[in-house]
Amino acid sequence: MASHVEPGSVDELSRRRSSVSTGMSGAYRLFTVAGIDVRVHVSWIVIFALVTWSLATNYFPSVIRGASDVELWVLGATAAILLFASVLLHELAHSLVARARGMEARSITLFIFGGVSSLAGEPRRPSTEFLVAIVGPLTSFVIAVIALGVAVFVTNARPIEAIASYLAVINGLLGTFNLIPGFPLDGGRVLRSIVWQVTRDARRATEIATTVGRVVAWGFMLWGFWRVLNNDVFGGIWIAAIGWFLQSAASAALDQAVADARLRRLRVGDVFRPDPTGVAPDVPLAELVERYMLPGARRSLPVVDGRRVVGIVTLSDVQSVPPERRATTTVGEVMGGRDGLVTVTPTTPLRRAIEALGSGDYEQVPVVDGDELVGLLTRADVVRQIQMREALDGARS
Ligand SMILES: [Zn+2]
Repeated sequence: MASHVEPGSVDELSRRRSSVSTGMSGAYRLFTVAGIDVRVHVSWIVIFALVTWSLATNYFPSVIRGASDVELWVLGATAAILLFASVLLHELAHSLVARARGMEARSITLFIFGGVSSLAGEPRRPSTEFLVAIVGPLTSFVIAVIALGVAVFVTNARPIEAIASYLAVINGLLGTFNLIPGFPLDGGRVLRSIVWQVTRDARRATEIATTVGRVVAWGFMLWGFWRVLNNDVFGGIWIAAIGWFLQSAASAALDQAVADARLRRLRVGDVFRPDPTGVAPDVPLAELVERYMLPGARRSLPVVDGRRVVGIVTLSDVQSVPPERRATTTVGEVMGGRDGLVTVTPTTPLRRAIEALGSGDYEQVPVVDGDELVGLLTRADVVRQIQMREALDGARS
């Protein structure tokens, strides 16, 4: 999350597993850079309007004498667009370095608190985490230095000088704010990578970085509260909101780390329900419903040709055919998976299987042992298993 608002910007590299939705809802794609979708969330419009308003009514009138209202608003909007272009460059730096180090960069979303780079896959080494995190603030500092150079050397155009000065200050703040060593800020990721490198324990590193992150977040909330008490109601609420956002992001990161550690030990064989029932492609849908789906309350079945799994048929495949045609339509005509069926084996690590479920947005994948069908792995099985293990862990502590 990289956000950029007055006191700084929050930026989070969201590295969720692909089974969890990677984007924010309510975001719209603007354009694509180097294969990365650049999107804006509806909440971004609020911050864009606030920044433009604040620049047009406070900053520019104080540094440029005698400008008309129209000129002030055009300058305000221009500077606001350049600010968000700076945030975008900061995020692009994270995404491009991540990609160069073997991770997948999917999208960048600008929202009310800044920007989010959505990356797939976990950094496998501390050095990757370090580089991906540090390059964002470094980019902001480089932009600040360039803007400062423009402000110093352009002396005959007051508006350009004023915009460049603003960008120099704001990018300096952006880089500095993001270096605060609390997860999910970039500085927190840098801290995590260093602890990880030293202790060789990624879980421990996450715990330390998120704990510092929560302290930082509570600091922001208290500071915001104090500002409210001192009559800066708007600024105080804003700072507290950033604190609240950081706090929930740090908590989510810790939960994710715990869930990942739990998942790492599991394989498909620990989770799926063995059930070698398959249906042949030439079976009519009416028979599929009567003989296979209703008796076991199965919502989906693997389709087998001899012993080989050739597809998967689901309740919604059946529903896509009108009832009067279900006696004459066969499973083979409606089944999914004909072009590239994803299967897993009982020894597949559960994390890989979850990625497989997420890759095609599948509700289930067939489990095969050699050539032989042994059952189905469903999203519901995975969720139930994780919830049960969580409940048992909770009881122990
Ligand atoms: Zn960043």
